[in-house]
Amino acid sequence: MIIYKSINKLKKEVNFKANIGFVPTMGALHKGHISLIKSSKKICKKTMVSIFINPSQFNKKSDLKSYPRNLKKDIKILKKLKVDYLLIPEVKEVYKKKIKKKINLKMKDKIMCAKYRPGHFEGVLAVINQFLKLIKPKYIFFGEKDYQQLHLIKKLIRKKFITKVVSCPTIRDKNKVALSSRNILLNSNDKKKSSFIAKLLLSFKNKLNNEIHLKKNINKIIFDINSIKNINIEYLEIRNKNNLSKIFDKKNFKIFLAYYNKKIRLIDNY
Ligand code: AMP
Repeated sequence: MIIYKSINKLKKEVNFKANIGFVPTMGALHKGHISLIKSSKKICKKTMVSIFINPSQFNKKSDLKSYPRNLKKDIKILKKLKVDYLLIPEVKEVYKKKIKKKINLKMKDKIMCAKYRPGHFEGVLAVINQFLKLIKPKYIFFGEKDYQQLHLIKKLIRKKFITKVVSCPTIRDKNKVALSSRNILLNSNDKKKSSFIAKLLLSFKNKLNNEIHLKKNINKIIFDINSIKNINIEYLEIRNKNNLSKIFDKKNFKIFLAYYNKKIRLIDNY
């Protein structure tokens, strides 16, 4: 595995006309990231992973500070997976002078995480835009765990780039909790609560698959989840999985959740 700390150097040395798959991450790698890397290895000749904790997508300084970091372990994992290139760029190279640190969202996209984390997706889109302007992989891989992110990135890429977006299913642990780098910050009791919530919503989803009129029960579910000690829902909504509107039927809906487990903010969709 070749490690690049500069995008410029990577650009000079890697032939992006070849079949290259790109997996952008913020590190603290887990099996969710690994599934994206394995998907890339299946369809691409070479796989490139980036680890970049993008400051412009954190709307709270404390969140950026506490975000898990474990570069040594990450490199070990990536070497074992036989990843070809690892990019660990510096903030000052990604956001050179005059580069926009934000890409504006349309009003209709300011829902769910975009509403509650103002500036977050604007920062995510800016960094993906910047990466794709500099390097032109054939494929880029994203997880459905961050479904709204995937939705917005697909729209951005469709408009501006030839890179194809590959979406990969959410990987869960044996207790049904979606894997996330932030899970390291949970203790076993916190994890039990997250597991209860995930199981509850997976079973609600199953019910809705057959009887969509039960969607009205969501208010009771919000109440029940909020009654758990130290759990606070930010939003729990059912939306159309194709355009994220509130018009859906039993064939095209998804349940979207963001909540705090103590101070840790977690998201999931079902
Ligand atoms: P992150 O490092 O959290 O920015 O995530 C990097 C990529 O991994 C994003 O495309 C995420 O959607 C994806 N990812 C994170 N967790 C999971 C998961 N549990 N299952 C599938 N993909 C995931």
